[in-house]
Amino acid sequence: MLSVVPRPVTVRVPAKINLHLGVGDLRDDGYHELETVFQAVSLTDEISIVPADTRTITVRGDHAAVVPTDHRNLAWAAVDAMAAATGHTGEVAIEITKGIPVAGGMAGGSADAAATLVGLARLWRVEPTRDEMYAMAADLGSDVSFSLHGGTALGSGRGENLMSVLSRGEFHWVIAIAGGGLSTPDVYRELDTLRRNESLSRASHPDQLMQALAAGDPRRLAPLLRNDLQPAAVSLMPTLRRTLRAGTDAGAIAGIVSGSGPTCVFLCTDSDHAVDVAAELSGAGVCRSVRIASGPVPGARLVDDDR
Ligand code: ATP
Repeated sequence: MLSVVPRPVTVRVPAKINLHLGVGDLRDDGYHELETVFQAVSLTDEISIVPADTRTITVRGDHAAVVPTDHRNLAWAAVDAMAAATGHTGEVAIEITKGIPVAGGMAGGSADAAATLVGLARLWRVEPTRDEMYAMAADLGSDVSFSLHGGTALGSGRGENLMSVLSRGEFHWVIAIAGGGLSTPDVYRELDTLRRNESLSRASHPDQLMQALAAGDPRRLAPLLRNDLQPAAVSLMPTLRRTLRAGTDAGAIAGIVSGSGPTCVFLCTDSDHAVDVAAELSGAGVCRSVRIASGPVPGARLVDDDR
């Protein structure tokens, strides 16, 4: 008898960087009020999903071994959410190929959750409305909505309320991936401690930064990059100071910790400049690996879909 192997649904989903991350006060629900400008960049995870007898997750790629493959994986939670919304049982085999650094402040887990929502909608041929998709995403985590959205966006609340931001052309980044990870809750806790003990400045509204994005001008953007979490990430991982200095010594026009870190991102004037900065930074030995990326790129999207 001929057995038919189902063709997987494949989704590609980008990492995010925060060009601006303003952290407000701690809310009663334990989250901080945020004002952030996200950009989706060309470091991506790929997720393949096929129907199966039981639910499994396998993970390949960089640091795959430290990514949970059970209910702790955000993709698992995304299957639960979509199954509950559509009445499916959620028996699928998911394969995640990580290109996004794990625990790097680039929303890798959130990206996989967003990709799973998009993939399951196609696999199960259900058509949740845009509002339903974004509601499921927001329930799964603060950054999942942006992983669906992609491009460049202003996020508020926990980061889940999004407004598209006009961004002209392409921006070129060098990404320095650290040897270890930082836990996002630890970094927020450290910020609260630092703020209790010293007066740290707080980011103001990113008007000028959004104008620089609209103008497509990296030199105008460079001095406006801002991350309120950076002092906390550097306090927990002091070697980041050296990484940030090495990036600007290598010729980047600005450098910043990405989100909760420890990944650092460096802005370059064009793609050739990014290649030069990446080569120099690789030689400096201040991080585990160096990548080049550009943005903005689209959010979670089906790959080669001709069904
Ligand atoms: P964020 O910036 O969204 O807080 P991050 O980018 O710093 O997160 P992730 O790569 O999402 O970090 O991983 C944080 C932790 O989440 C990991 O240490 C891992 O244990 C867990 N995790 C759960 N699901 C995933 C996934 N699909 N990919 C990577 N990590 C995952």
